[in-house]
Amino acid sequence: MLEKSQQLLQRASQSMPGGVNSPVRAFTSVGGTPPFIERAEGVYLYDADGNRYIDYVLTWGPAIIGHAHPEVVEACQAAMARGSSFGAPTELEIELAETMIARVPGLDVVRMVNSGTEACMSAIRLARGATGRDKFIKFAGCYHGHSDSFLIAAGSGALTLGTPNSPGVTEGTARDTLVAQFNDLASVETLLDGFPDQVAAIILEPICGNTGCIPPDPGFLQGLRALCDKHGTVLIIDEVMTGFRVGYGGAAARFGVTADLYTFGKVVGGGFPLAAYGGREDLMRHIAPDGPVYQAGTLSGNPIAVTAGLKTLQLLTPEVYEQLEATSERLGTGMQAIIDKHGYPMTQTRAGAMFGVFFTDKPVHTHQDVLGCDLERFNAFFHGMLKRGVYLAPSQFEAGFLSTHHTDAIIDETLEHAEAVLATIFA
Ligand code: PLP
Repeated sequence: MLEKSQQLLQRASQSMPGGVNSPVRAFTSVGGTPPFIERAEGVYLYDADGNRYIDYVLTWGPAIIGHAHPEVVEACQAAMARGSSFGAPTELEIELAETMIARVPGLDVVRMVNSGTEACMSAIRLARGATGRDKFIKFAGCYHGHSDSFLIAAGSGALTLGTPNSPGVTEGTARDTLVAQFNDLASVETLLDGFPDQVAAIILEPICGNTGCIPPDPGFLQGLRALCDKHGTVLIIDEVMTGFRVGYGGAAARFGVTADLYTFGKVVGGGFPLAAYGGREDLMRHIAPDGPVYQAGTLSGNPIAVTAGLKTLQLLTPEVYEQLEATSERLGTGMQAIIDKHGYPMTQTRAGAMFGVFFTDKPVHTHQDVLGCDLERFNAFFHGMLKRGVYLAPSQFEAGFLSTHHTDAIIDETLEHAEAVLATIFA
């Protein structure tokens, strides 16, 4: 029952494009009415019609310790009473920067910003400023925010320049973004060789979470590291989704690779608009005011957001990641058992507290593999789960997220729902 949400969507559509402030929330790809959320606590979301959902979206990743964690709420309330923004440095920012630096390999210096988009766009500017080169390589299916130079589709040939995939992005901008295939080192090598001394950076999601959940093939990240070293190209690992989610030190630490620059967001802001970029000291000293590469922000390092991020990281001890790994394994193993038992043409993936469920029986290594999924079946699965009170991401091309509140009982309940819904879909 989504009567009230339907009314709210109608009203919202009068004053906001699609009735939402970020497109995926409108359920465009799965159809139907998005529940309008009134509150969230622990693992549950509660909507305007009084429905309760087990949440596997977790505000698109940040809520790794569950919604409205009492310690975060209390710390933020106290911070709020001291003033919500100063536009001046605070000791809290040092604490957050130091906490991040202590966990991530090769993270020497950090700059805080307000969104993952800003972090990625700034990291690219820095790489260009430091190398004096204009082009960069991204991967098909990886998302780094909505800055113009990321909204680029692959050209038709291996060495064809990218093309804008949103009106408003200029051909001029697209010329400097090159698109390679995830898990395909040869596609990267072709571009680096084809544009010698022109590629400032390679940016990637170490686990591609914006086209489902695609872990890197063994050696892929190490191969990129070696190619960057060979070509004098800056390796930017976008940990906006994976940072402090798939392990204590993020994906780079998990897979044993060190980036030149990192970007962070989501978990590091504890549910508030806080993101960051950082990395090698010599590169980061190019940033103003130490160096000439400009980047700034009125609300950057906001004290409430920093408080939430710091408290969240403090709660995320190595033992918590062990718990999250066990939860993920329980979900993945359970899902695989259902697939095997019924012989469904499905594939499941996972990496730490991230997972993917794909409606294809083929292994999933690239964006192209996900394009081959049965989207109608995914949509039916999504709506079937929603009706049973399980809130999944409303697109085959999104990852699922786990929190410390996804207990064994919650996972088992979810698997029961999944088996029942799949039985109707494949009937
Ligand atoms: N990078 C990655 C890997 C992301 O998943 C996202 C958002 O989902 C971004 C960057 C952009 O972050 P934001 O939405 O905070 O601008």
